Amino acid sequence: GASLPFANAPDTDYAQADAREKAQTALQQVRQQLGKTYYPFINGDYQPTTETVDSVNPSNPSEIIGKVGLLSIDQAETALNAAKAAFPGWRRTPVKQRADILRQAAELMEGRREELSAWICLEVGKALREADGEVSEAIDFCRYYASEMERLEGGYIYDVAGETNRYVYQPRGIAVVISPWNFPLAIATGMTVAALVAGNCTLLKPAETSSVIAAKLAEILVEAGIPKGVFQYVPGKGSQVGAYMVKHPDTHLIAFTGSQEVGCRIYADAAIVQPSQTHLKRVIAEMGGKNGIIVDESADLDQAVAGVVKSAFGYSGQKCSACSRVIVLDPIYNTFVERLIEATRSLNIGAAELPSTQVGPVIDATARNRIQDYIEKGRQEAEIAVECEVPETGYFVSPTIFTNVSPDAKIAQAEIFGPVVAVIRVKDFPDALAVANGTKYALTGGLYSRTPSHIDQASTEFEVGNLYINRTITGAIVSRQPFGGFKLSGVGSKAGGPDYLLQFLEPRTITENI
Ligand code: GLU
Repeated sequence: GASLPFANAPDTDYAQADAREKAQTALQQVRQQLGKTYYPFINGDYQPTTETVDSVNPSNPSEIIGKVGLLSIDQAETALNAAKAAFPGWRRTPVKQRADILRQAAELMEGRREELSAWICLEVGKALREADGEVSEAIDFCRYYASEMERLEGGYIYDVAGETNRYVYQPRGIAVVISPWNFPLAIATGMTVAALVAGNCTLLKPAETSSVIAAKLAEILVEAGIPKGVFQYVPGKGSQVGAYMVKHPDTHLIAFTGSQEVGCRIYADAAIVQPSQTHLKRVIAEMGGKNGIIVDESADLDQAVAGVVKSAFGYSGQKCSACSRVIVLDPIYNTFVERLIEATRSLNIGAAELPSTQVGPVIDATARNRIQDYIEKGRQEAEIAVECEVPETGYFVSPTIFTNVSPDAKIAQAEIFGPVVAVIRVKDFPDALAVANGTKYALTGGLYSRTPSHIDQASTEFEVGNLYINRTITGAIVSRQPFGGFKLSGVGSKAGGPDYLLQFLEPRTITENI
């Protein structure tokens, strides 16, 4: 039948005083629950571990958000066995029933919206408004993939006289999900529920720095009715248990979002057929970007400046969609740069939970040191145009702009994953496109222009998975802007789009001669 257009969950309107009050209350309530221990959830039970690691608030690292029990290799083996045992039952579970569990999870998230935003804000240092958007996205993933699986369930019928032909989708088996800390709820939820609704038994290994939020997701899925062994929460060290699960002969698919280095490692490891393995593994990998925005001489500069600032410095540049190169045409270069500097200088930098904060901390000390090393390198390669004062407590890095950067400079090529932007001057539009395409990545890209021929040309020649014209290049919305890149940005999977679930399924053809 005809289906209704997908309705995205609305974000909180913080212009309303009661919404702001609720947010403050949620922060206080979450603060009273800090410091608890979160253990792996294996085969229907929380299992104690010998090792734990502290997850701290990046805005104030002395505040421990929670202690996370680290899975051992033995426990990983137990979890994989439990997944294997649960698979026959889960694959037979009607799609409608699986989809309804996702819808129930979406309801539970909506009911805990303020609380979840508060956990995100405190555990990964994301400003409340953006944390709230992430809760909406997680809800959208649940509802969207639920209806997508119902759409795909029917398969295709290619009957001819004397012969029926059915094309149907079956689950693959055991899915290992390795999720990043930068969208600790939305991306963990998206990959997990996609795997689950397709009928795969799923193990979620979150990034260590966001394992408390992932534990909240686990609570929600369990409460929504996921049977034991079907979903398991397996926090641990990526290099140990993560790698172990990737290489395990019983693993069928790996869904990963994170760095290019780890993604390529997983891709390679998964390609090796282990002695007892009788299938090829599927890897869904979404990795980095070195995303550029082109500003041409016809651009609305007010719009361009605001869009670049938001795309580059929102969540301190820690989105794989973030802008880290601005490619500006010569005739407007000076004017644009001057305004960009001014707008950046006026950003409020502070603890993520403060309502006035526009730029919060970065995730941890390692990230801060890495970003600062890039900034030091940048000083030798280009001119530094903006550096601001940052709070002393917390893992803060100043929004930083380099100007007159050469397209081959390190800061113009490496994914820094921080609030650092390289501004590159180009002579004309063809040059701008060449510079924009001159990286190994192809994730997001932007163009500010009022020239139709430039817009046309960018549409076909700007090599990115998500091209945004005259707007910010972050904040893709489920079923509106299916998200993901190609080249070394990923395998070309599009989260929140109509092809996404296909990767979690095995298609089969059944022909009957009648
Ligand atoms: N989907 C997010 C966006 O459009 C980015 C996801 C990521 O950083 O992995 O901004």
